[in-house]
Amino acid sequence: MSTFSVINPATSEIAGEAPDCTRAELDAMVAAARGAQPGWAALPVDERRKYLHAIADVIDANVAELARLVTLEQGKPESVATEEVAGLSYWLRETAKLDLPVTVNQDDDERRSVTEHVPMGVVAAITPWNYPLGQLSFKLGPALLAGNTVIVKPSTFTPLSSLRLGELLRDVLPAGVVTVVTGGDDLGPWVSRHPGIDKISFTGSTRTGRDVMAGAGASLSRVTLELGGNDAAIVLPDVDVDEVAGKLFWAAFSNAGQICLATKRLYLHTDVYDRIAARLVELAGKTKLGPVSNHRQYDTVIDLLRDCRDNGYDILTGGPAEGLFVRPILIGNPPEDARIVQEEQFGPILPLLKFDDVEDAIQRANAVEYGLGASVWSADPDAALAVARRLEAGTVWVNEVMHLSPLVPFGGLKQSGIGVESGVAGLLEFTERRTITVKR
Ligand code: NAD
Repeated sequence: MSTFSVINPATSEIAGEAPDCTRAELDAMVAAARGAQPGWAALPVDERRKYLHAIADVIDANVAELARLVTLEQGKPESVATEEVAGLSYWLRETAKLDLPVTVNQDDDERRSVTEHVPMGVVAAITPWNYPLGQLSFKLGPALLAGNTVIVKPSTFTPLSSLRLGELLRDVLPAGVVTVVTGGDDLGPWVSRHPGIDKISFTGSTRTGRDVMAGAGASLSRVTLELGGNDAAIVLPDVDVDEVAGKLFWAAFSNAGQICLATKRLYLHTDVYDRIAARLVELAGKTKLGPVSNHRQYDTVIDLLRDCRDNGYDILTGGPAEGLFVRPILIGNPPEDARIVQEEQFGPILPLLKFDDVEDAIQRANAVEYGLGASVWSADPDAALAVARRLEAGTVWVNEVMHLSPLVPFGGLKQSGIGVESGVAGLLEFTERRTITVKR
């Protein structure tokens, strides 16, 4: 089998090799997943719950190794990678508690009509490189619990941790229930256009999401699309600057800014702009982030920085360091139509934007094609809530950001996606409805 090299972003050296699957090999994997699916779906749901715990157990027993692989291929510190891997097992255990609802539509002398949720068949889980295993938290447990078999297609940049997980699961699950497939740039389109795949659960960029949806159209495969974001944080004038500055910094720069729900535009009221900007500059000077995860994303970040420089915007701090490392970059009050405001940076560069009137901030926050997340910061929760209700985003946080839970559905509005992940609503995305009506 031919392979491709995976690069360690911290050293730019080869971190490992991954199989470069051919179309015929993918076909064989899909056939095996189809073969395994009826038996998996026929298990009582409580058996599948036990399997979810068994997967979580094997992840827990191998956290250190899986986290090391995430660090090697993605670049985040091992402590953060450990949290990511532990999060996957936590999510599996919490997902195992969910129930598929059954709705009784009619139950009288004439007939009994019941709608239940049945599996879709074979699910493809296509994941991005920012959280190679974390992104599976939202897909693997719900898809399996609902009675589907799963083909995991990790990013070409970060296949190693998923491959190792697939190996570990061979000892836990019946053959064909979870398969990990890796390959080059052709593989994603092969998967999203595959007639043997019933559902594509995709997380990645909006541009790729459009292609996935177009490809899925050929066989009417179902899709859930978790796509890009350009999340605004709106900071009202009454905040405690000392308290919020650190939170706002990490809202933007956790995982070197490579989080779909990271704060990507920071709207600061004029009354607090200078003080918060000064605190952020201070924090940026003291903080060493992990590397940007790959050359493609590094080029995007540096191109945006170059655009800021070419247009004479105020670069308050930061810039490229050695290799793929970047010191946190803050851009002072660029115009609203600047590329750094309108485009998703997905990296360690953040525009700080001034506003006087909260109406203006709301209008600017909403005036992008994305609608993933947003946050509002204030000492007055009611005032913050009134702003939150007017923001066009799938999730709006007040006085925090990026908090996710296995019980809470999240997903994007507008060009940030279709459908949701997590919670019962996220579980139902891996099912079809079947209504059975009995005439009396
Ligand atoms: P990407 O779209 O380049 O790739 C995502 C996945 O799709 C990878 O596995 C890739 O190999 C595969 N792929 C590439 N082309 C494909 C095609 N034509 N058909 C099918 N699959 C294809 O995204 P990325 O650069 O890996 O991730 C960064 C993006 O993901 C950012 O835009 C970020 O906001 C977004 N993201 C969204 C969420 C969310 O929950 N909404 C979470 C994390 C990341």
